[in-house]
Amino acid sequence: MALLICADCGNDVSDQAPACPNCGRPAPVDDIPTVDIPERSGGPGESALLLMISGGVLLAAGLALLVADQAAWASASLLTGVVLGVGGRVSALMRRRKYWRSRPNQK
Ligand SMILES: [Zn+2]
Repeated sequence: MALLICADCGNDVSDQAPACPNCGRPAPVDDIPTVDIPERSGGPGESALLLMISGGVLLAAGLALLVADQAAWASASLLTGVVLGVGGRVSALMRRRKYWRSRPNQK
């Protein structure tokens, strides 16, 4: 927690305060972090990666079952694998989009 100087009245304002307690001036919007994302969020998230990996494993299992002539199990496994793989990729994409949007505009 730190103290900021109010631009309007010069009063000390906590950086946690939504507005200056003296004059009511709202805290500068630039200082409020919009999305709390850890540093390593540039790449796909762990959960997205996990989804893609399990999707790949299920796809491999589905193919193996197909070879073993277990058509019903194979199609179920392939379908789940595709859904998980696509879900993982979409989730990774969304994370990346959020990451870029949360970056401050460089002047
Ligand atoms: Zn003030």
